[in-house]
Formats: sequence, C-alpha cells, structure tokens
Amino acid sequence: MSQVFNFCAGPAMLPVEVMKKAQAEFVNWQDTGSSVMELSHRSKEFLVVAAKAEADLRDLMAIPENYSVLFCHGGGRGQFSAVPLNFLPAGKSADYIISGSWSKLAAIEAEHYGQVNAIDVTDKVNGQIQVLPSEEWRLNPNAAFVHYCPNETVDGIEIFDIPETHGVPLVADMSSTILSREIDVAKFGLIYAGAQKNIGPSGLTIVIVRNDLLGNAQLTTPAIMNYQVLAKSDSMYNTPPTYAWYLAGLVFEWLKERGGVKEISKINKQKAELLYGYIDESAFYKNHIEAKYRSLMNVPFWLTDDSFNDEFLKQAEAQGLMALQGHRMVGGMRASIYNAMPLAGITALVAFMKEFSAKNSKS
Ligand SMILES: *Cc1c(COP(=O)(O)O)cnc(C)c1O
Repeated sequence: MSQVFNFCAGPAMLPVEVMKKAQAEFVNWQDTGSSVMELSHRSKEFLVVAAKAEADLRDLMAIPENYSVLFCHGGGRGQFSAVPLNFLPAGKSADYIISGSWSKLAAIEAEHYGQVNAIDVTDKVNGQIQVLPSEEWRLNPNAAFVHYCPNETVDGIEIFDIPETHGVPLVADMSSTILSREIDVAKFGLIYAGAQKNIGPSGLTIVIVRNDLLGNAQLTTPAIMNYQVLAKSDSMYNTPPTYAWYLAGLVFEWLKERGGVKEISKINKQKAELLYGYIDESAFYKNHIEAKYRSLMNVPFWLTDDSFNDEFLKQAEAQGLMALQGHRMVGGMRASIYNAMPLAGITALVAFMKEFSAKNSKS
C-alpha cells in the first residue's frame, strides 16, 4: 500500500519528513560513521542532540526558566507512580480529578503510595457526557497536589480551561494533548507525557517540573524515578532512551518549521471541526460528548447500528484508513488525529464515512 493514514491512538503516526530524515542518517549520523543509536549518551555528539531537543521543546512550549525538562523512561504509567512518590509525603493527601479512563488509572496507582482523594467530575445528561466546570470541583485546599488529565485519550474528553487550584501544585497528564495547542506552563507544577502520541516513538516520557517542588521524594522512590536526581544529572542518571530522544528532537524541529504550536493548533482545530461536523450531521454516526468537552486529538464515534462495525473497519483498511477500532473499554470507533495527521487524512476519512453510510443506510 503506497500511503495510509494511521489513526492509531499510540504509538501513533509520525511525520513522514521526520522518518525520512531519520532514515537518511540512520547508519551514518552526521559523518560520524555511527548511528545515533550507537553513540554514548555522554559523548559530546549526543549531548548536542540532547540539548537541542530540550531547547526546542522549551521554545515550542515557552517553558519558563524555573522549570526542569526531564527525558525519562517508563511511559505515562511510570509517571502514575513517580508523581505520588515524588510529591505525596506521609500525612498528606492528593486530589485526583477523574474525567475518564486514564485519570482513573492514575488515581488507582497513586493509592499504592499515599492518601488519594478521587473526585469524579463527569456526568451524563440526556445521553451526553459533560464535565463539571472546574470552579465546582470540590478540591481540598490542603492537598499536596491536584492531578488531572486534560485530554482523556480513550473517552475523547478534553478539559480546555486550566483549573484554578489556589496555590496547590497542579499536575497534568498531557500524554495525548502536549504540543497540540498552546498552554501556559507557569500554571502547572508538573506536566508529563508519554512520547508516543504527539512527540515521537514510545520509550520516552517528558516531564516538565517546577524546580521548587523538587527534593521531597519519599525515601523508597527508585532513583531513576526521582525528579531531583534526574534534574541534577540532566536526565542521564542512567542511560536514557537516546534514539527516542533524538527522534523527538526531529519532531520538535519539524513542528518549529511549521510555525510551532500556535500554527499546528489551528490545523488541529480545523481537522476536529471537520470530523465532528460530519458526525453530527449524519444519522449513521454519533459522538456523545458535550461539544465543549470534545477532544481535539481523539475522536470516538459509534455507528448507530454496531452490526456494521466489522465491515466498516475492513473497508476502511482497504482504503488505507488504519487503526480506527475504538478502545476495548468503550467500543465503537476512534480516530486519533494528532499533530502528524494531515488534514488530507480527515478529508479521506470523512469521504469514506459518507460513502459507507450511503451504502448501508436504510432508505
Ligand atoms: C497513553 C496514555 C497513558 C499511558 O502511557 P504509557 O506510555 O503506555 O504508560 C497515560 N495517560 C494518557 C492520557 C495516555 O494517553
């Protein structure tokens, strides 16, 4: 198949320009005679790659000076443990906002390390899922931190307003929304994201943490998860995932060449509007998230008659529209449309959905 559009939620598609560049320098990187993969993480060559990636990410997200950027192992779920280990001292509790599948899993993991106050903020009204406005969340003013997931990858629920926590550090799992739209990093104590959605290949996790929050880790915290240890060693306490770090750097360069987060966010909005717009006008497909909380990155949708599901997926794949099957927990379909998904992918998907509905609707 010549070209496909890959709607996988993660690992997700990467920009083809990035993969071609990586391919061209795969065996002989910058005339070193070696692959980037074969260089010591402490070599002067790799240190340049590492520093450039960090500088570009800082630039893309306008990360203030008093924040450290860590390049970690362990994925999003690794951070489900690392956050309470580093930020939840004995005798304190942490608020966990539950808005879908991932935030619930984060809360369950955190319970292993301390006191968790789970706060459910979703509601179903007339069959539509809504999120309680953040001013109405019953936050504990003495919490060690507030954890939330601005974009629920499985459920397709996105919280656009940054909650006001009145000085309590705000921790955000941005695995599936980082770099998709502009955010004010200064409002957060910590942001983390597994790379495999909007940054690069799996195996790398980005943590952005305000420096004054470092140094309070529980004594049992593994050193490789200790933010202070990682910050002091420039994320090289142990061998970092060097090739993933390099590829993330290429993605950051790619994004900068395209005008950065501001420009890509316009395209992301356009992509999402096109897809939700069609779903709403069609009687054959539906999405049941209240419009205000619909994810720009992960668009779940259901066929009104789910006996067509298998056929839908089969025909979509035959047209090069891959990985549209919804998450096993919610069923139906899901189109993940991260930064690397071009507008042409959405146009192709909508055209296919129209054709499929026309063929299979009862007249
Ligand atoms: C994918 C995802 C995770 C899990 O990431 P892993 O790297 O597989 O551990 C956690 N949170 C969110 C919001 C995600 O989208």
